[in-house]
Amino acid sequence: MKWWRLLFDLCFPKRCTVCGCTLNYHEQHFCLECYADMPLTHFWNVQDNPAEKVFWGRCRVERVYSLLYYTDNWRKPVHLLKYEGNIPIGKCLGKMLGERLSIIPDSHIYIVPIPLHWRKRVRRGYNQAEVIAQGIKDGLEAGCTGNGSRKVEVLPELLRRRSFTNTQTAKDRTERWRNVKDAFEPNPRCRKVPSAGSHIILCDDVLTTGATLEACASILIENYGYRVSIATLAYVE
Ligand SMILES: [Zn+2]
Repeated sequence: MKWWRLLFDLCFPKRCTVCGCTLNYHEQHFCLECYADMPLTHFWNVQDNPAEKVFWGRCRVERVYSLLYYTDNWRKPVHLLKYEGNIPIGKCLGKMLGERLSIIPDSHIYIVPIPLHWRKRVRRGYNQAEVIAQGIKDGLEAGCTGNGSRKVEVLPELLRRRSFTNTQTAKDRTERWRNVKDAFEPNPRCRKVPSAGSHIILCDDVLTTGATLEACASILIENYGYRVSIATLAYVE
């Protein structure tokens, strides 16, 4: 280890983003204990899993994968990505998810992050879903041992967000849904448009009601004729 690195770590010790304890030099983002206690969903091994049931009767997605349950402790790293610009943690969790998705048999996979409105993206400096998408791509590529020829592409510009949605002020469920549903549209400026029948993994940080994911999945299925699966870092029980 370089002496200056040692000195830096002594002055500014890295902390576990879940429990707050000081990390060892070889630990990244989480301590070993939190890593071992990670509330993994194992949805990638379960057909008709609870996350898939969220979309039953709403839109025809193929599979839904979430890395972990959104517990009090594991809310913190997701918040760090979303609100505090901790991009490495989003990439790390996205990669963990991507490694588990290497069971997907397709030889060409496209990953589409839920878009932010361009103004919000400029203000925040990044789209957290895009960070996760990049992590998933890295994980899929790292995990493809038997399928070395697989191609994975992130397409952040396939869809775009039309307007700001203000779900907080909308009165009822129907009105809220209308707000979300109309918020996305195909992006005419997208340079790369996969052919119909392609497998798209739509990704976001957290799966709660599924309204946003449903709105985007519906466009991908109905307007483009894609097969759509969904991947999120966390699932709210
Ligand atoms: Zn910890």
